[in-house]
Amino acid sequence: MERVSIEKQLKELPKSILAQEEVLIRIKKTHVDKKTRFDEVSTKLGILKFELEEVVQLKAHSEKQMDNISSPREFEALNKEITEAGYKEDKLRKEIKTNEEVLKDADSDLKSTSALISSQEAEITEKQHKIMTEETTMTKRIEELKITEQKVTTNIDSEIIFKFERIINSKQSLGIVPVKGAVCSGCSMILPAQFVNEVRQGNRVIFCPYCSRVLYYQDSDTAEAELFIDIESGSLADLDDFGDDSEDDSYDEEESSGKNSMDETDN
Ligand SMILES: [Zn+2]
Repeated sequence: MERVSIEKQLKELPKSILAQEEVLIRIKKTHVDKKTRFDEVSTKLGILKFELEEVVQLKAHSEKQMDNISSPREFEALNKEITEAGYKEDKLRKEIKTNEEVLKDADSDLKSTSALISSQEAEITEKQHKIMTEETTMTKRIEELKITEQKVTTNIDSEIIFKFERIINSKQSLGIVPVKGAVCSGCSMILPAQFVNEVRQGNRVIFCPYCSRVLYYQDSDTAEAELFIDIESGSLADLDDFGDDSEDDSYDEEESSGKNSMDETDN
């Protein structure tokens, strides 16, 4: 049982960090998405800054031309150009400011995700080391148990050992249990009298037909003694009732039924 239990634990061990590894994969995916968003905003910001430069230059050029105008019509046209460039400049500066704030947030977000990835990776690595240590200890214990098992089972038919191990594996409990009275204490099923007799004789290894466990006979005296204790505690309770309510009708019924059952036993 100890070996089977350790082998099961050994199999489960890597699963203990599976959830954490999945979390890490999710965080990494989020990180990639955030990086893409960061790059997008960054590119957009570059374009906006370039456009701003153009507008500022255009405005400066128009303002310079103001010195060389020769007609009111030319003035009006230039003035319109300068005003429009001014509007565009304002709009671009506002847009750049907004995007710079977005980029700043995206940057700090990226940094915190990076930190989270690092800490998760460190934690997983630490757990992996711990698992490896535990695996070594468990494997060593399994080997020890196998040697002991071999010593104990040298004279037992290999097919029986195989069946026995299969029972322990599937039930995750004892593979050998006593028959108490006529009841298998592994599955609590009542077994046929002839079958119980065979178990009692102990000439061959017998498996419970219901739960497949190996059976051995436990002295029926012990089983009966246990049964007797149950009955005794029940009758003591009845006696208490009798002491308190001697006139009670229900007592008379109990007493008479008790007498009947006693008669039956006698018969
Ligand atoms: Zn059984």
